[in-house]
Amino acid sequence: NTFAALGLAEPLLRAVAETGYTQPTPIQAQAIPHVLKGSDLLAAAQTGTGKTAGFTLPLLHLLLQSPLQGKRQPGRPRCLILTPTRELAAQVEESVQTYGKHTSIRSMVMFGGVNINPQITALRKPLDILVATPGRLLDHVQQKTIDLSGVEVLVLDEADRMLDMGFIRDIRKVLALLPRQRQNLLFSATFSDEIRDLARGVLNNPTEVSV
Ligand code: AMP
Repeated sequence: NTFAALGLAEPLLRAVAETGYTQPTPIQAQAIPHVLKGSDLLAAAQTGTGKTAGFTLPLLHLLLQSPLQGKRQPGRPRCLILTPTRELAAQVEESVQTYGKHTSIRSMVMFGGVNINPQITALRKPLDILVATPGRLLDHVQQKTIDLSGVEVLVLDEADRMLDMGFIRDIRKVLALLPRQRQNLLFSATFSDEIRDLARGVLNNPTEVSV
């Protein structure tokens, strides 16, 4: 029961060790191998379980294993992580930075309620992982400052809260802009009919994990 046994790349193992984690939490032990295999994932997990590392670590690993070698384009992420709130978006992106600190993988966070212009400037640099709240992401889509046609992996984090906050239409708009062929991960603390419905529409033959 170690991070190394999960098959994560050395730069990630080093970052994890420096963070002080000695072993994976149950959600990490369950989720990481499936994400690494390329499976879609439906995960029942609350905040505090370590779910963030459960998806950010394998995402970083997948990007390390399939480098685009110079073809990385500004404003065109390969992984898209949607979160309900700006606080969560910032937290998730900080995790990406922490676990990815020994890699050259680039991430960015965007959320509403702040001036859009610094985000537009930041999007002129290449990026691999974008963490966003749905409304602001769609603002960028409308301004054509973001290109979602290169998204290989989609993560819906705290999907139940996104639905509670009324983001379902925004999520559906974003989904329509993504390539059909992609990997999808959905994390939710609760499983209402609405979440099941969303999961059915988004996930392909998902592995279900629960903690
Ligand atoms: P999360 O559920 O992703 O919000 O994580 C909750 C907290 O657990 C965060 O403060 C993480 O830094 C911490 N954490 C995540 N994974 C581990 C681990 N394997 N060992 C110890 N702490 C962890």
